[in-house]
Amino acid sequence: MTVIGIDLGTTNSAVATTDANGITTTIADRDGSRVIPSVVYFAPDGSAVVGDRAKAMAVLEPERVAMLFKRGMGAPTFLFDESEFSVDGKVWRPEELSSLVLKKLKQMAEEQLGSVSGAIVTVPAYFGELERAATREAAELAGLPILRILNEPTAAAIAHGIDASSRGKTIMVFDLGGGTFDVTVMRVDSEGEMQVLSTGGNHRLGGADFDNEIMQMIAARAQAEANVDIFAEPWAFQDAREKAEDLKKELSTLDTATRPISTGGRPLMFSMTRAEFEASIADTVEDVSDMIEITLGEAEVDAADVDTVLMVGGSSRIPAFSTLLRDMFGKEPTFSRNLDEDVARGASVLAAKIGGQIDPRSELADLAIPKDVASHGLGMTVNDSDDREINGIVVKPGQGVPSKGTQTFYAAADGQTQVLLRINEGDEEDLAYVRQIGEGMAHFGRPVPAGHPIRIDIAYTAEQIVEVYAYDGENNKLIGEVRLERTGSLSGDEKRQALAAIAGTGVQ
Ligand code: AMP
Repeated sequence: MTVIGIDLGTTNSAVATTDANGITTTIADRDGSRVIPSVVYFAPDGSAVVGDRAKAMAVLEPERVAMLFKRGMGAPTFLFDESEFSVDGKVWRPEELSSLVLKKLKQMAEEQLGSVSGAIVTVPAYFGELERAATREAAELAGLPILRILNEPTAAAIAHGIDASSRGKTIMVFDLGGGTFDVTVMRVDSEGEMQVLSTGGNHRLGGADFDNEIMQMIAARAQAEANVDIFAEPWAFQDAREKAEDLKKELSTLDTATRPISTGGRPLMFSMTRAEFEASIADTVEDVSDMIEITLGEAEVDAADVDTVLMVGGSSRIPAFSTLLRDMFGKEPTFSRNLDEDVARGASVLAAKIGGQIDPRSELADLAIPKDVASHGLGMTVNDSDDREINGIVVKPGQGVPSKGTQTFYAAADGQTQVLLRINEGDEEDLAYVRQIGEGMAHFGRPVPAGHPIRIDIAYTAEQIVEVYAYDGENNKLIGEVRLERTGSLSGDEKRQALAAIAGTGVQ
């Protein structure tokens, strides 16, 4: 039985495995690629193509290609105009698309390793409950048993060998990927356990935004010189998007980059300098710097006290960011040779450890299971002393997880059988500033008289997914788990349909 680690990224995904001796391998697909674009193309024969070939189809048949869907995890759609993504009459939700990527990665692993019994899948530390629950759901739809959801920066730190031997060290992980930015401050405590002290960032900021900046410049040139509106033509738009990404990557090593842009007639030669690119992202670099300051502040750590700055995610290759970090921390940031694979590799190390596959004589036998803190507060809608509805905070952000809190509710009328619970994410009392993650009915189990108490325990699991339990408030007996209807998630019927749709879709 084999366990794997999966980095389910916004732009790219990867899968790795760690053997009993602690040797980690990133798994390649049949074409030899170890990093798979998180892009799905729906072929007319009903099958789904995932990866490079799907990305290439974005130019030819953009309406049959889905990308950047991780940004919509936990919501019904991921498209910028909030419309649904559908192909041949079937609407595909972000978790279903993610499950197709997971299915592809599982297949790749099984071709090399035989049957896979479980996986650790990573998520940005910034992800809230709905996104985490949707990630679990995607794995379930793909038929992939999840051992644990793990924060990406923690996985990256494990991949860099940050373990018990780094006792007392403070690490900052700077993770700028294709669609998310995460900054995480961690410390390896005196027991050798890795603890997340604070986490911040923006889960709608990443390489795709830099591509968009370049596309705006390409569009202006195409309009002025060829009178073509690249945003109006799907093929021109896709071509410009690909070229923008190529130009951006090249500018990480060269001072000038040039690409031909399709305009329908003679291609337009578009050149750009690194200085021009840096000017176009200057505001973002500034925002990133502010977010780092805030996250350090929350961890109560000075920049000078950070021992290692780890660079993760493809966009951390942009020199403007390494310069920023060098200036802020006064030391050289640490890059790895496997920058795009680190997260999957770290996840696979922990998967092997949790799955009990590590030889007790191996170095990894000492690896401690990392602890996380709640990235968002958690509360329930309650009435305050003036009978106004507020968010009654149960778990504060920054509190270690697993964690739980309790609220007691009382029957308002004789004969009441249930109470509606509303669960919110956020640490403000004002309901306007929190996000409702779901509702559930807590049942008394029988009609009760007015004033009868019901105790509600609400908990974040180690992976920050919410669980709610109801107890009879008089004798403290467990009534049962409260089933949470998550905002925007699949209903029971929808889930059955999704399972059938994914099972019936061949993935290549
Ligand atoms: P990730 O989600 O970590 O796989 O990061 C993917 C993002 O990194 C994409 O937006 C890529 O365009 C970007 N990226 C990859 N290589 C480079 C590079 N050399 N310079 C700038 N950005 C890059």
